[in-house]
Amino acid sequence: MSVAVLIDHRSGDVTRPSLEALTLARGLGSPVAVWLGDAPSADAVAQLGEYGAAEVRVAEVGDEARHPAKAAAAIATATEDSSVVIVISTFVTKEIVTRLAVLTGAGVVVDAAGAELVDGKVETFQTVFAATWNVRTRIDAERAIVGVRPNTTQASPAEAPGAATVVAVAVELPEARERIVSVEPVPQEDGVPLSEAPVVVSGGRGTGGDYTLVAEFAELLGGAVGASRDATDEGWISHEHMVGQTGTTVTPALYVACGISGAVHHRGGMQASGTIVCINMDPDAPIFEISDFGVVGSLFDVIPQAIERIKARRAG
Ligand SMILES: Cc1cc2nc3c(=O)[nH]c(=O)nc-3n(C[C@H](O)[C@H](O)[C@H](O)COP(=O)(O)OP(=O)(O)OC[C@H]3O[C@@H](n4cnc5c(N)ncnc54)[C@H](O)[C@@H]3O)c2cc1C
Repeated sequence: MSVAVLIDHRSGDVTRPSLEALTLARGLGSPVAVWLGDAPSADAVAQLGEYGAAEVRVAEVGDEARHPAKAAAAIATATEDSSVVIVISTFVTKEIVTRLAVLTGAGVVVDAAGAELVDGKVETFQTVFAATWNVRTRIDAERAIVGVRPNTTQASPAEAPGAATVVAVAVELPEARERIVSVEPVPQEDGVPLSEAPVVVSGGRGTGGDYTLVAEFAELLGGAVGASRDATDEGWISHEHMVGQTGTTVTPALYVACGISGAVHHRGGMQASGTIVCINMDPDAPIFEISDFGVVGSLFDVIPQAIERIKARRAG
C-alpha cells in the first residue's frame, strides 16, 4: 500500500518531524515522499531514501506551495495512487488537508499521536480536551489523511534503506481568489522551534522574570524555551514562547515546568508530553498531579544543581 508523506522542509533541509512521519509511514505500507516547492537537493533525496521513501515526487511549484488551495491540488495530483497521506500537523497543513479531503473524498484526522492499520483501515490515536480523553478514530473512507504531531514517533532510518527515485509531478494549479505577493522570513531565535522541540524547558511566574537558568537548562538539554501566559503577559519573554490553550501545543519527549503552577489552560498545551518534570516551591501546586517527576524547591536552587549533575555525568 502506498503511503504518501508530505515533506516539510526549511531552506531545503528536511525537518526532523518529516523523518518521524516517514518512520510512521513505514509501519503502514510503502512510503513515498511528496515534495512541494523548489526541487530538493541530492542530500535531501538521499536522506528521504534512508528513511524509507522509494520515490520522491517533486511538484516544482515554488512559492505557490504556500497557498493552501494550490498545495492541496498539487498533493492530490502527486498522491493519486496513495491510500494514505501523512502530513505534520501545523496550522497551515490543517487547512491544506481539509481542502485535500474535499478534493479527494478522503477521511481526515489531524493532531494524531500515531496511526496503525486495523483490519485494513487506518486507526489514529490522540489525546484531546487538555489531554483529558484518549481517542481512537477509524477512517472508513477509501483514502485516509492523517496529520501527526511532531515528537510522537521516534525517527529511525529504514532497516534496508534504498536510493529514492526522483519523479517530477506535473500539476495544474487552480486559480485562487488570493495571491501571495511577498514572503519574507521573520528573524527567528537560534535553536529548535518550540512546536517541534524534543525537549521543552518552560518558566512561569516563579522565574520572577529571570530566564537565564531556564534558557541555560534548555540549551544543555538541546531543547527550546517555553513559558506560561502569566510570564508572557508580564513581558518577561515574548508570546511565541507561550505554551498552552492560547499558546503553542507541545508534545516533547521531555517537558520541564519551572515555577509554573499547572493551571488547566497551561496543561492543555503540554499534558501530552512524554515525560513531565516540574520544579515548584509549593508541594500542593497542581502541576505535581500530572508530573512523572517533581522537585519541591526553588528553581534558582534546583536548576543549577541539575545542570551541574548533568554536566558531571556527561564528562564522566
Ligand atoms: C482563556 C484563558 C486562556 C489561557 N491560556 C493560557 C495558556 O495558553 N498558557 C498558560 O500558561 N496560561 C494560560 N492562561 C492563564 C492560566 O490560567 C494561568 O494563569 C497561568 O498559566 C499561570 O501561570 P504561572 O503558572 O506561571 O503562574 P502562577 O499560577 O502564579 O504560578 C507560579 C508558580 O510558581 C511557583 N514558584 C514561585 N516561585 C518559585 C521559585 N523560586 N521556584 C519554583 N517555583 C516557584 C509557585 O509556587 C506557583 O506554583 C489562560 C487563562 C485564560 C483565562
